[in-house]
This record gives sequence, structure tokens and C-alpha cells, in this order.
Amino acid sequence: MTALVWLTRDLRAHDHPALRAALERRERVVPVFCFDDRLLRGRHVSGPRTQFMLECLADLDERLGGLVVFRQGSPERELPALARDANATEMHFSSDSGPFARKRIERVLRVMREAGVDCFAHPGLHAVDDLGGLCTQAGKPYTVFSPFHRRWLVASRREPLGRARSLGSLPSRVRKGRLPSLSDLGLRQEVDDPLPGGETAGRERLARFLRSGIDEYEDTHDALGGDKTSRLSPYLHFGCLSPREIEERLPTGKGANAFRRQLCWRDFYHHVLLHHPRNARSEFQDRYRGSISWSYAERRYEAWCEGRTGYPLVDAGMRQLRREGWMHNRARLVVGSFLTKDLGIDWRWGERWFMKLLIDGDEANNNGNWQWIASVGVDPQPAFRRIYNPARHQERFDPRGDYVRRYVPELRSVPTEHLAEPWTMPDEAQRACGCVIGLDYPEPIVDHREARREALERFRV
Ligand code: FAD
Repeated sequence: MTALVWLTRDLRAHDHPALRAALERRERVVPVFCFDDRLLRGRHVSGPRTQFMLECLADLDERLGGLVVFRQGSPERELPALARDANATEMHFSSDSGPFARKRIERVLRVMREAGVDCFAHPGLHAVDDLGGLCTQAGKPYTVFSPFHRRWLVASRREPLGRARSLGSLPSRVRKGRLPSLSDLGLRQEVDDPLPGGETAGRERLARFLRSGIDEYEDTHDALGGDKTSRLSPYLHFGCLSPREIEERLPTGKGANAFRRQLCWRDFYHHVLLHHPRNARSEFQDRYRGSISWSYAERRYEAWCEGRTGYPLVDAGMRQLRREGWMHNRARLVVGSFLTKDLGIDWRWGERWFMKLLIDGDEANNNGNWQWIASVGVDPQPAFRRIYNPARHQERFDPRGDYVRRYVPELRSVPTEHLAEPWTMPDEAQRACGCVIGLDYPEPIVDHREARREALERFRV
């Protein structure tokens, strides 16, 4: 009479098809989360994101009456053992599109079959039911966003579900296991001011955004100083919020349509990685795979990571990442363009640094966006279209300098007319505002015009 629910990145009680199905079919349900070293210590290891996840798990455990079972070890090893102890005959889980997740699911299904446990995959991670099945008229997976978006808007969707009912109690032979701390896992928090993890915090944030941000979203989402985007990405990444439920709760109007389009980008990149798992390590576009001579200049890379490039908007973005484990999308685009075009550094180095610090770090979305801004991925455009001038972007998206001043304190008293290119400030003005370039704030590490020319050369392959 018992079913397991294998939790992965679906850490919520609302609109959880796997949990709901288990509760409908079985009297007793045992939700379990396995701490898998291959993820915790793998190539995308991250203290900030793991801390966020631990907070999600603590919150979910509380919501499910303290009944979430924790196991240290691979699910292939832990789940059959738990099924035996719980006398469970079936297991439910959310299907996933990532390359690692899919291989792991295959292995889990094999061992569970051998253990006599029936396994059922459910949707829940994406807005549409069958993300992998969406295809062009030629029957191929999509690689361009606009046609994908048109198809996605009319793709079939399930009805969102309410909150799961209470689960009862754990079978007597099942040990609950302990939720470890970040230091138990050998990791440390590397950012100062991250958002709190968990469904409770995510639902509050969603409610606030639907009350007061969504209507203006189309007009305000690019304004860096205003900080008006939803910041729901980490909650979506860990499944504290269901994209399907969010969609369903959107009002009508321009703002909601623009926001829904962003949710579609999330599904798009998951669709892309599902069909092109090789993208996780190499360029999607054949002509650029292995043919661009990327730079691996360590000192320039460090200056970028630490927000010391001398370009205020780039530095503000990188310091926001360091402080909050999150960065505004417009800043992500600018720092991504700067790393790959102005510095000519391999996009994989940028991808790696983002995955280390981002609380919303998501293999498909991060990889897809890095390839996009590096001009080597899907949804292609000629490289020159995606070489952003950081100073012009700053004037356009942070005209008063609120964003830059928030994250780069040494520039706080630089007059707004000099803030996008502080190195052009006359010496006297530098002394007057207490920001001497080369002393209080770095000189630009490259000349953008020169760097742009070199970038175009690099892409002529
Ligand atoms: P909102 O503007 O409120 O958008 C709502 C939701 O739509 C987001 O929460 C997110 O789930 C989705 N979304 C919005 N824009 C995108 C996009 N371009 N691609 C995919 N989904 C999108 N997003 C991640 O979730 N994880 C990542 O690791 C990640 N890495 C990125 C790396 C680079 C170089 C760039 C340019 C973008 C990256 N993004 C990533 C996309 C985007 O920057 C974030 O999703 C967004 O900033 C999150 O803030 P928000 O929740 O306030 O977004």
C-alpha cells in the first residue's frame, strides 16, 4: 500500500503531479530526496545554490509534516533499499530533460525494475506537457526561438493541481535520515545576500509580483536600476514553483504576455539541451565548434570575475552576482558579451563561473544563454549583432546610474554624465569626486572599439 515519491528538482507541495498521483493510488506515501555526490561535487558544484536547495528541502519537509526522507548516496543505491524497507511497490517522479538527469533516471528505472517496483514518470518541470515532443513541420526539434514560441503557446497543457494532502506517517522500518548542513556537505556559502530558498518564500514572491509587477513587466523588465523582474528563477529551478501554475495565475495583458514569453525561453533551452546534449560541452553551431581561437588569459578572466574590468556596468553585474548569487538578465547579457567578445575568452569559462555562484544556475538555461550571447548557439544571428557596447548599454538601461552605484561603491559620487565612461573624466573632476581612475577604480582593461574589431576577426572562420 506504499508508494515512494523520488524528489529531485520539484521541491514543492502545490501542483506536484508525481506526489498527487502517489497520494491518489496509495494510502501511504514516502517522499525521498537523495544527496547525490555526482551533483553536489560534480562540475557544477556550488555552495550558494546548494544552500538554497537545503532551504527548499527544509521548507518542503515542514510542509509535508516532517515526512521527507533524506538519504546520502546515489538514488540507484538508495531507492531500492528504501523501497524494501518501506515495502513500497511503486515509485513516482518528475521527468527531467537534462543529460545527467536522463541517464540517472534510466539507471534508477533499471534497478527499481529488478527490485520489483513499478515506476511512473510525471510532468511538472515545464509549462507544457510534452516538451521533447514539440517539433517543426519537418518533424525536427526547434533551434530558433520565435517558431518554438508560436508552437509552445498552443501546445497541450495539464490542469494545475492544488496542494498535496497530508501524507500520514512513515512506515515503522523507515528511518527518516537527517537534512545535512552546507558544511556537512563540505561546501560553503560564497555570496553575502542571497534570496531565501523554499516554496513558502517562492509563493510569497510570486504573489507580490502578480500584485504589483506583472502589469508593467513589459516596460520595466530591462531597466537595471528599477530591479523590477520577478526574481523567480531560483524557485523555478528547484521546482518550488510550478511553471504551469504560474502561467495559470497570470492576468491578461501586455505585461503578462511578455512574462509568459520569458517562461517560454526557459522551456526552449530545456528543449534544446534535451535534443542536443552535446551542447553541454561544445558549441551548437558546426562552423564554430573547435574553430574559434578563444583566449584563456587568466588575469583578465579574474578581473572579470571580480568586477574589476573598468567598465562600470560589467563590474556592477559581476559584483551583484558575488553579492546575491543572482544577476539581472540585462547585466548577464552585457557581462557575457564582454567576456566572450571584448576579452575573447572561452564562453565555457563564463558558464563555469555563473554555475559556481548563481542560485538559479540551471545547466540548460545557463548553457543556452551563454552560447546565445557568445554567438555560437541556437537562435543564431551574425556575431556583430551580439557585441554589446557596455557604456551605451549603461546609458540606455541604467541612465541615472542607480544600478552601477548600488554595486560599485567607489563610483558612487562620480557625476552621472561621466558614469558610463569614468576614464574620460578630467583629472580635476576625478579628484573632486574622490574617484581617481587607476587608483580608486581600474582603468578599462581593453578598449571596446579595438576589442570589437578583434572579435569580428575571430568569428571570420
Ligand atoms: P524574469 O524576467 O522575471 O522572467 C521570468 C522567468 O522566465 C525567469 O525566472 C526564468 O525562469 C525565465 N527566463 C527569463 N529570461 C530567460 C532566458 N533568457 N532564458 C531562460 N529563461 C528565462 N536563467 C536561469 O534560470 N538559470 C541560469 O543559469 C541562467 N543563466 C544565464 C546566463 C546568461 C549569460 C544569460 C544572458 C541569461 C541567463 N539566464 C539564466 C536567463 C535569465 O537571465 C534569468 O532567467 C533571469 O534573469 C532570472 O530573473 P527573473 O526570475 O527575475 O526573470
